[in-house]
Amino acid sequence: MTSTAVRAELAEMELCDLEQFLVSLGEDRFHARQIFQWAYKRGVADFQRMSDLSKALRASLESRVTLSTPRIVARERSADGTEKFVLETGATGGSPAQDTRRIESVFIPETPAMTLCISTQVGCAMGCAFCLTGKMGLVRNLTAGEIVGQVRVLGGVLSLLDTRFNIVLMGMGEPLHNYDQTMKALRILADGAGLAVSPRRVTLSTVGVVPGLDRLAAEPIMPNLAISLHATTEEQRSRLVPLSRKYRIEDVLAACRRFPVKRRDRITFEYVLLDGVNDAPEDARRLVRLLHGIRAKVNLIPLNEAAGIPFARPSDARVNAFAQILADHRVTVSVRKSRGRDIRAACGQLIVEGQKPSPGQRLAGAMGSPPA
Ligand code: SAH
Ligand code: SF4
Repeated sequence: MTSTAVRAELAEMELCDLEQFLVSLGEDRFHARQIFQWAYKRGVADFQRMSDLSKALRASLESRVTLSTPRIVARERSADGTEKFVLETGATGGSPAQDTRRIESVFIPETPAMTLCISTQVGCAMGCAFCLTGKMGLVRNLTAGEIVGQVRVLGGVLSLLDTRFNIVLMGMGEPLHNYDQTMKALRILADGAGLAVSPRRVTLSTVGVVPGLDRLAAEPIMPNLAISLHATTEEQRSRLVPLSRKYRIEDVLAACRRFPVKRRDRITFEYVLLDGVNDAPEDARRLVRLLHGIRAKVNLIPLNEAAGIPFARPSDARVNAFAQILADHRVTVSVRKSRGRDIRAACGQLIVEGQKPSPGQRLAGAMGSPPA
């Protein structure tokens, strides 16, 4: 046995965990709120700088607690202002479960809202045919602390921590395939003692993990929901989205119909347009019929092309014709502007080269629907 005690990991604690931890040290639980303020609102990871804590408590925390923070290993700025960050996890110690992996997070300076696009997994098990992240397979899940850590790091360097910003879970990974850590991350982000990111400012994008959708429907914390649909027939979707062989379009839409959507809110349906594959007028008309009775809006995403992706981006004329059919049938539709394509920060272009495969890749089958 080694005499070095493993230090507790603040990044993985919800406020209530930190309160309990302080009580176990014989300290007052209210210090948890002060520590959350420092760590999240002010981006301070060094306990010695938490000046409203007693010197004794600061020293005690320093010897017992660590706050692992992903390290920025690359930062690239696109001509349109989008910035892609490559972060390395587990960089300042942390738990042995958190090996060092590279993930990508993106800052999108939309006006007026600033948006952080963050990852929930290293790679992804779902293997969608048009997605580079899918090509990596799943390397491992991110912990809640690593998911929130991306927000702490980007928020810190972009001076956003004390401002309002949006978060989209549209980086690497399938959030509902890492359900517990994703939800824990949303609770930490929402905590009023810390960043206080309202769930209304968070959008969770999923390819349609039906049991995850049903669990999400019962959560006290409810982010906005985006469903990656991409196709209008079962045959077509199962070729593009392997998970569709397990959870069919009709299953996903049934889960959407029973999802508690508040008045005035809608579910977003994302639809990647692939030239000559799913972008015909019949597809648009079928999409209208499929979404009938669902409080829906559609976000069309013309494919971001990449080497190794065997599809092409449709012409603007085809994209507009598709959008027009939806609009003519009173379906709210928007076409996603592709941001950061010059630095490969656009949707589906997140992949970190040189990832070592790990035993975690076997997790790929854990939800039962690895790529074919
Ligand atoms: N796994 C989740 C969230 C991450 S992917 C999901 O699939 O919803 C975020 C979005 O990027 C999804 O809608 C996905 O379909 C889209 N996307 C993936 N590859 C793309 C590509 N090459 N071009 C455009 N959008 C892509
Ligand atoms: Fe995974 Fe989403 Fe990419 Fe599909 S589109 S492989 S679910 S990240």
